[in-house]
Amino acid sequence: MDVAAYSTSGANAPLERTTITLRDLGPKDVLADIAYAGICHSDIHQAREEWFGGIFPMVPGHEIAGHVAAVGSDVTSFAVGDRVGVGVFVESCNECENCAKGLQNYCLKGFTPTYNGRDKAGNPTYGGYAAAIVVDENYVLRIPENLPLDVAAPLLCAGITTYSPLREWGAGPGVRVGIMGLGGLGHMGVKIAHAMGADVTLISHSPNKEDDGRRLGADHFLLSSDKAAMKAAEGTLDLIINTVSASIDMDAALSLLKTDGTLVSVGLPDEPLKVSTFTLIAQRRRLAGSNIGGLAQTQEMLDFCAEHGFGSDVEVVPADQVNEAWDRVVASDVRYRFVIDTASLKS
Ligand code: NAP
Ligand code: ZN
Repeated sequence: MDVAAYSTSGANAPLERTTITLRDLGPKDVLADIAYAGICHSDIHQAREEWFGGIFPMVPGHEIAGHVAAVGSDVTSFAVGDRVGVGVFVESCNECENCAKGLQNYCLKGFTPTYNGRDKAGNPTYGGYAAAIVVDENYVLRIPENLPLDVAAPLLCAGITTYSPLREWGAGPGVRVGIMGLGGLGHMGVKIAHAMGADVTLISHSPNKEDDGRRLGADHFLLSSDKAAMKAAEGTLDLIINTVSASIDMDAALSLLKTDGTLVSVGLPDEPLKVSTFTLIAQRRRLAGSNIGGLAQTQEMLDFCAEHGFGSDVEVVPADQVNEAWDRVVASDVRYRFVIDTASLKS
């Protein structure tokens, strides 16, 4: 089946309209008509080869929301018309001890990414900047009825990437949580940590984001360039989720942690983070990382957001404005996630 998509031919090339061929529907496959696809900063890092070499042509997009258009003969969990989402991966080995625990995101054989990867058959995978996608039903999530699809799409990456470490490290009442960076991930981190009942501090390098941060659920605001305020806040936080896409002053961030506090980095700058061991040992601080979340936890996060009545704050753009949207993401000029209206691809 041929469908319209936006793809890039190389690291320095713009995204352009194209046609891609989806694989034939297998017995366990779902064909989803994509309604919206979020623009994650990882799309840009990968297409511009900021992390590693890419597979081109590349159709990015791993925050996908839409409706089931067809199902294979053995599909049991979904029917035509269902509201569904697809996130960052579309296959895993299903045999290793992590897959057995529902941690497909840490599959020991490596999961198949939704795009910029090769599936088990060896074919390149294409993501959500397209009119449709074919995915094994086990990797398809259910989007609750009360979440509109445009605000639900970013939950499939930005939502689960912040929800997972907040859950794993016990965010909740009485826990002082810092969220670093108010972008796509960070604004979900603020909303989710607030909904979990934590006391939330937004740490931002943008002085003009304080009002938004507080509106989204932050109790406190710290401007990372305000040395006096950063000094005064040292030793006050239990948990920090660092969502920043660039290198930051890690020692200043770690110093905000209390004794035994943990900083979880989810942001993926292209350079290694520089940390002084002295800052870690001074208060037995911990530095950790986290990568999206498993399928069951992703469904739990979607249900949690629906229960609390929020999705992402989105700016919806037609597909032909995707290059401008990317430039604005790089300039930290998005409030707070661009979502492509993929229906615009059908016209
Ligand atoms: P985004 O929307 O661009 O947000 C990044 C935020 O980082 C910006 O809004 C800005 O917040 C801050 N920032 C940007 N440049 C900065 C600089 N030079 N100095 C200090 N702060 C800066 O990106 P995103 O989509 O949320 O993604 C964030 C990062 O997470 C990316 O590197 C992405 O690849 C990565 N990621 C990781 C996972 C995972 O599973 N681990 C999943 C998805 C994405 P302020 O203006 O508030 O400072
Ligand atoms: Zn992402």
